[in-house]
Amino acid sequence: MMNSLRVSIALILFCSVLGSAQTSPSGNASLPYRPSLDINAMDKSVDPCVDFFTYSCGGWQKANPIPPDRTAWSVYAKLYEDNLQLLRGILEQAASASQRDAVTTQIGDFYSSCTDEQTVNSRGLSPLNPDLDVIAKMKSVAAMASVVARLQPEVESNPILFSVSSAQDLDNSEQEIAALDQGGLGLPDRDYYTKDDAKSKEIRERYVQHVAKIFALIGDSPQVAKQNADIIMRLETQFAKASQTRVQRRDPYTLKHKMSLAQLRELAPRFDWQLYFQKLNAPHFEIVNVASPDFFKQLNSALGAEPLENWKAYLRFELVNAYSNYLSEPFVQERFDFYGKYLRGAEQVEPRWKRCVEYVDQNLGEALGQAYVREVFSPELKAKTLAIVEGIEAAMQSRIEQLDWMSPETKAKALVKLHGIRNKIGYPDKWRDYSSVQIRRTDFAGNVQHAVQFEARRQLNKIGKPVDHGEWQITPPTVDAYYDPQLNDINFPAGVLQPPLYDAKMDYAPNYGDTGGTIGHELTHAFDDEGSQFDAQGNLKNWWTAQDSKEFAARTQCVDDQYSQYISVDDVHVNGKLTLGENVADLGGEILAFMAWKNANKDKTLEPIDGLTPEQRFFIGFAQWDCSNERPEQLREWAVTNPHSPAKPRINGVVVNMPEFSNAFACKASQPMVRPSDKLCKVW
Ligand SMILES: [Zn+2]
Repeated sequence: MMNSLRVSIALILFCSVLGSAQTSPSGNASLPYRPSLDINAMDKSVDPCVDFFTYSCGGWQKANPIPPDRTAWSVYAKLYEDNLQLLRGILEQAASASQRDAVTTQIGDFYSSCTDEQTVNSRGLSPLNPDLDVIAKMKSVAAMASVVARLQPEVESNPILFSVSSAQDLDNSEQEIAALDQGGLGLPDRDYYTKDDAKSKEIRERYVQHVAKIFALIGDSPQVAKQNADIIMRLETQFAKASQTRVQRRDPYTLKHKMSLAQLRELAPRFDWQLYFQKLNAPHFEIVNVASPDFFKQLNSALGAEPLENWKAYLRFELVNAYSNYLSEPFVQERFDFYGKYLRGAEQVEPRWKRCVEYVDQNLGEALGQAYVREVFSPELKAKTLAIVEGIEAAMQSRIEQLDWMSPETKAKALVKLHGIRNKIGYPDKWRDYSSVQIRRTDFAGNVQHAVQFEARRQLNKIGKPVDHGEWQITPPTVDAYYDPQLNDINFPAGVLQPPLYDAKMDYAPNYGDTGGTIGHELTHAFDDEGSQFDAQGNLKNWWTAQDSKEFAARTQCVDDQYSQYISVDDVHVNGKLTLGENVADLGGEILAFMAWKNANKDKTLEPIDGLTPEQRFFIGFAQWDCSNERPEQLREWAVTNPHSPAKPRINGVVVNMPEFSNAFACKASQPMVRPSDKLCKVW
């Protein structure tokens, strides 16, 4: 989701997975209204104490089949779709208006270059010809360093060979340093290359066919295309085996290997690092963090073992595969057939306009975001959100003070960290300036290339500089939120504060259950198994006594054990270790939201509405944030790559641990949504 080369060591904890605006009589765009508690979304034939998720969302699931161009469908995805419609109106106007300011011109011309499918199709692969020529003319494996330095800043995700960027120093959160990390894979995770079950083998065979098709589209004969595809698979498999697993990478200490350039040269001597950084035009630096040293050792071996022609094939494929969405129709179709249809289960490519809106959001997001914020965000909404945040932070303070398992010493440090959290709501104080990005109406792939290069350069230029606390990792229309442990801040863009997630027309109960729970979730990330290893300043520094660490680990183990029992799809279980941080945050977030909601209403008597008590409305509001349908193919991928549990265990896994829930619905001790009191998981 992130549009940058920023190395994933940033450990950002995003909290959802994504999956029609109307024009009012005044001409202003607005989002359609959807209530934060929808009685019709429920299935009252289901007993809430047996399956609370289906009780709350069964009606929604029936009424909202997955659209053919989607791999999953959810309340979040639907709101994102509404945002796309609204942004489409903004962009169509920007593309055609006669009088435009600099920002409108840029986003309008970018959008127009993308929707002009005829020009995109007529240009075929030609936008990549200059790069493909450079690869073809490579004279030695040693010359790779220079070519890789040219190509990497043009590719936004799936880094070619490895990733390079700046990153916050794990030991000094005010300082940006150079950072290298593993990369180079075309499948969604290293496990796809290493697992031996029948499904994994089938996916690998199908991937090799996809790679061969890309080579054929570039112009190779069927025989050469097949040979090249086998080379790619062999190289990527070597890289995958030397890559850290996602679970390993949840431990930030696994990612900390700071070294000098001389040490980097010792680690991987066959890659010409001096030439590479010179060609990359990176700022001078003394220290680089290599998140995954074993990967670079393997890269070094491969550089010694593989002939030049194999590397040429590798670079050609990685470049074209990364750009296939921005080339002519056969490339787009092949990418969809493998990644969209086969791997994730979608039936159709998204309509062109939708993809084009998404590409503007990805590439010029803070330019487009300005227009979005003007339409949907207000100072009142910001003030209301901040008030809820403050109430939830107060609840966290009293939770910490009351914990019976934590020493006063560690509690004092936890409170310092809590009070150090910065709250960022809506949009950045300072907008990113894209004026140096060259945009032409007839050059879609070139526009993407320039925007991606701009972002890569912006990230690289941070090396050696102090950290900017005002920056956001997601754009204003994004329907998501995150906590950043190194910045110690929570970030709620305007996109996630819209109905039905936050609904100013509705009573507070479902709003606290939904948006309050999300705020509590982000706050709890500061204290989950990963976030808790960072101090108030965002440094990787232990502030726990040994005994408190042990007590904490026992409590998170309870959550790991609980979620490991759940099934994602077919016979694939939820990975309790991969999803631990999110599950801890879900549980803590809802406990905090319930406390904060009770505090906010302590002087009031709340009445039932629509036959539901306020407490019931709180929990249904919570469940309805995540009403979802998911394709089995998508669930299979997420079981490997997604740190969040699937929707049903995400909701039911929380309420079974909350006596407040079983009280609200008068559940009996023997029912499935009630865990025995000595088995309840509670971390915060
Ligand atoms: Zn999260």
